[in-house]
Amino acid sequence: MTDVADRATAGFRREFGAPPAGQWAAPGRVNLIGEHTDYNDGFVLPFALPLRTVAAADRQEGARWTVWSELSGETIDFGADEVDEPGRVAGWGAYVAGVVWALREAGHDVPGARLAITSDVPLGAGLSSSAALEAAVLTALVDLGGLDLPAERQPRLAQRAENHYVGAPTGIMDQSASIRCRDGHALFLDCRSEGVEHIPFDLRGAGLAMLVVDSHAPHRHADGEYAARRKSCEAGAERLGVPALRDVTVDQLDTALARLDDPETRRRVRHVVTEDQRVLDTVALLRAGRVREIGPLLTASHVSMRDDFEITVPEIDTAVEAALAAGALGARMTGGGFGGCVLALVEADAADPVADAVTAAYAEQGFRAPDHLTVLPAPGAV
Ligand code: ADP
Repeated sequence: MTDVADRATAGFRREFGAPPAGQWAAPGRVNLIGEHTDYNDGFVLPFALPLRTVAAADRQEGARWTVWSELSGETIDFGADEVDEPGRVAGWGAYVAGVVWALREAGHDVPGARLAITSDVPLGAGLSSSAALEAAVLTALVDLGGLDLPAERQPRLAQRAENHYVGAPTGIMDQSASIRCRDGHALFLDCRSEGVEHIPFDLRGAGLAMLVVDSHAPHRHADGEYAARRKSCEAGAERLGVPALRDVTVDQLDTALARLDDPETRRRVRHVVTEDQRVLDTVALLRAGRVREIGPLLTASHVSMRDDFEITVPEIDTAVEAALAAGALGARMTGGGFGGCVLALVEADAADPVADAVTAAYAEQGFRAPDHLTVLPAPGAV
């Protein structure tokens, strides 16, 4: 298949009969560590993938947006009336209309545009294809219209598109990662202050690689389970008298747990508090250039998600166990859970054998064969 950027330009020419004015690209992401900490005002540490969504675009007259997506094979068209009423544009077009809506709502004079969208971020695998789509469209519209919207304010706007227009209650991580990540770095994001720091993550220099395994596990009851976890965390914070679980440190954990009667809430709180600390510990190791030492933290994060937060599924646990047995330095589920992807930190020359071991373990269990790719931290939206 030709390159994703070439396909966007070719698609634009075919759909609209002219060359685009330019191209804007935004990546998918994985979260290195820090799961379900975002809505507890805590810490996350995503990095961008070398998989991108590309928008080839040009302005058009009036307040009209015409959008072709290679993945859906359709062209949709909407005007200001439809945009101004969240819900009027449904399906994948809602991610695009949502960005236009959020920009207009923030008072920007959004240019009418024609866009051709291509992507090599797999949809619904937990790699944030939706944030990549929002970020690609947002950067295209900001540049085409010469809008005054610096990169640090863009994630909040894309998140509003997803929360209020699409109707998905996501945090700020995915959009921040897609827009703000840097090549060779992970993005340390404080979800309370929204402050970010770029942390060097030199896998190649350490002789390592990151294997991403798409488990293909169907997302079983993910929405309901997600809501239930949020509720438990809120209940825990309320019982402990803190604004959010971020305000409990690991030193205070035993005392805090002793104040919680419900064993399930205790487990949920323990995951969040220890996970925040694991993010801080990972950042400290990466800052010191001790990349290979983060392996045990990744694995500890997985165990916590499996036993305390109870958000893993058999396919995911199988992938983690098989990767570790085949020599991975650490492995964990990444993303919200109940499916999605597994990360395995491996010696650079061990990526294929570890991937083969996971595939063999899947075959043994009768699971659908997983997909995998080896990645290095890539740049954010351009
Ligand atoms: P993910 O983890 O991949 O973000 P979601 O279920 O949150 O999973 O978002 C996936 C949805 O985003 C798709 O079902 C589709 O509606 C939309 N989407 C993402 N990328 C594209 C694209 N390139 N073309 C059309 N729709 C897309």
